[in-house]
Amino acid sequence: PASPPDQENGSDLDLESKPKKGIIFEICSEEGFHIRCESIEEAWKLLTDKVQEARSNARLKELSFEGVNGLRMLGIVHEAVIFLLEQLYGSRHCHNYRFRFHKPDDPDEPSINPHGSARAEINHRRCVFDMFSFLASKHRQPPEYRPHEEDGDEGQLRTARRVSMEVPLTVRFKQLKVTSKESVGVYRSPIHGRGLFCKKTIEAGEMVIEYSGNVIRSVLTDKREKYYDGKGIGCYMFRIDDYEVVDATVHGNAARFINHSCEPNCYSRVITVDGKKHIVIFASRRIYQGEELTYDYKFPIEEASSKLPCNCNSKKCRKFLN
Ligand SMILES: [Zn+2]
Repeated sequence: PASPPDQENGSDLDLESKPKKGIIFEICSEEGFHIRCESIEEAWKLLTDKVQEARSNARLKELSFEGVNGLRMLGIVHEAVIFLLEQLYGSRHCHNYRFRFHKPDDPDEPSINPHGSARAEINHRRCVFDMFSFLASKHRQPPEYRPHEEDGDEGQLRTARRVSMEVPLTVRFKQLKVTSKESVGVYRSPIHGRGLFCKKTIEAGEMVIEYSGNVIRSVLTDKREKYYDGKGIGCYMFRIDDYEVVDATVHGNAARFINHSCEPNCYSRVITVDGKKHIVIFASRRIYQGEELTYDYKFPIEEASSKLPCNCNSKKCRKFLN
């Protein structure tokens, strides 16, 4: 672990060993092995030398540490780690470093006002009207996480639902408006803004909620987006296929708040009921109370300049949504 330079010196530490540059690197083990250096390369070299020495004493073959260096051992050259490190508080003070993912903007510099006064400037902030912003309030507590709820009503309900899985898709779809109100709710999300959360255990394969809205032709999406943009309304759309899109901006429901995850617990399917297409979100595994529901947005891959970073926090995270 790296220690900050101004940490209190331990009793066994003499002042001479105080680092000049700022960071000291320590490698230690529970058996009492201890290395303390000002550079990671130096520390790594000492470690590999010790390993070789021990192996040679035990008459073991010499190991090759070629291509392995200190930074690699710390994981600092890994893209995912760089992605996180660049977001650390104070990273903007690293003037000699070339940022790859998060170029820090300098908040110390006030923006320049051509008219000499901030009041005389037109407000350029894009104010997106959002009547559902209260759903993200920190005072709205999401349901408590309960992964092993098996008792009483809950168990009975699950049996009832399992039976309902044998009911035809169209019948289940018609009950969905009622069942989804009981099973899911919108709360503040650690992934992004608001998210949809599970209120009662949902079984794998169960219909969760319809992504409702108006089905519109694909060619109309640009026009609509511009219209909403002009009115300052944040828009929500879900692509069914190359030709059709569901516009949930005005006639949407809670499903539009479902966040993306690279390792989701739900998936979407297009089903046809009474000749009309509907997007339905299904559970891909059992989901417990308190869990956030997610699906894979499957956005097409974009160039580096228009990439949206992913915040899903899953082990399989691809780092970007597109
Ligand atoms: Zn992700």
